[in-house]
Amino acid sequence: MKLYLVIPCYNEEEVLPETSKRLLEKYEKLIDDGVIDSESKICFVNDGSKDRTWEIIEQLNSENKIFRGIKLSRNKGHQNALMAGLMTVKDECDAAISLDADLQDDIEAIDRMVEKYAEGYDVVYGVRSSRKKDTVFKRATAQGFYKFMKAMGVEIIYNHADYRLMSKRALDALSEFEEVNLFLRGIVPLIGYKSATVEYERGERFAGESKYPLKKMLSFAFEGITSMSIKPIRMICVLGVIVFCVSIGILIYSLIRHFTGNTVWGWTSLAVSVWAIGGLQLLAIGIIGEYIGKVYLETKHRPKYIVEKYLK
Ligand code: UDP
Ligand code: MG
Repeated sequence: MKLYLVIPCYNEEEVLPETSKRLLEKYEKLIDDGVIDSESKICFVNDGSKDRTWEIIEQLNSENKIFRGIKLSRNKGHQNALMAGLMTVKDECDAAISLDADLQDDIEAIDRMVEKYAEGYDVVYGVRSSRKKDTVFKRATAQGFYKFMKAMGVEIIYNHADYRLMSKRALDALSEFEEVNLFLRGIVPLIGYKSATVEYERGERFAGESKYPLKKMLSFAFEGITSMSIKPIRMICVLGVIVFCVSIGILIYSLIRHFTGNTVWGWTSLAVSVWAIGGLQLLAIGIIGEYIGKVYLETKHRPKYIVEKYLK
């Protein structure tokens, strides 16, 4: 089988030399063992890096044609870079595995993914068995991320990031999803083909720093929820109903106070409810606005990415 690796890279000059070395060793072994075809490739997607990432990729490609480079016209974010890579290679390969440039995802799991593919699975999810090597903070926020997503009505595989194998057939199905607001871990389960999971230990980043600081992670979670689920809007409706019921109670209460002649009393409760209701309304409008913004972006049908160059 022709197996392609798709690796999004954003300012990864510090890790690329080591990453390419380790991947090449791995690939040469897999090819020698006859597990994968000798025409298999390792494709780096340069997501508009500002450092020497692209120069390194060009050099790798000139040294060994097993390495390929896909250059995006500008920075488009991890998800779009992944999509760009997968869609560019999908017609050449039998299956593609997406993984991060820092090799935090154990590449020894590739063998087991290929085995599952051979057994007839179209999608094989890499699932982290433990997060021993992550910082306590990263572990807690990441765990919180999955729990929160689930509570908000987004179906995702627990502890699975974007390390997965997809067959050509699954990639073709993925290409049918035309949404601009991409959240791949939410979309892939929707494809529905037979899937399996493979467990692996997540390692540390060996060089460079995380391109997902807390701020980006929060916005990623928010994007995921508002792209995949309308549960928040429904929660606002429920909240509206509750607040309305409470207000009827207050209305009755105020009328009783009025007719018993105690109208001045109650300034505090008035002030508090004005602020509380005002805040809730702003929050509700904000969330709804977020969805309208998404609809706006989707109706434009803008390209998710533009491939400037494909080094073969
Ligand atoms: N990445 C990207 N575009 C971006 C941000 C990140 O292509 O705008 C890539 C990055 O080069 C890496 C992967 O996404 O290969 C995951 O990023 P990182 O390892 O920094 O995230 P973490 O493992 O800390 O969640
Ligand atoms: Mg990482």
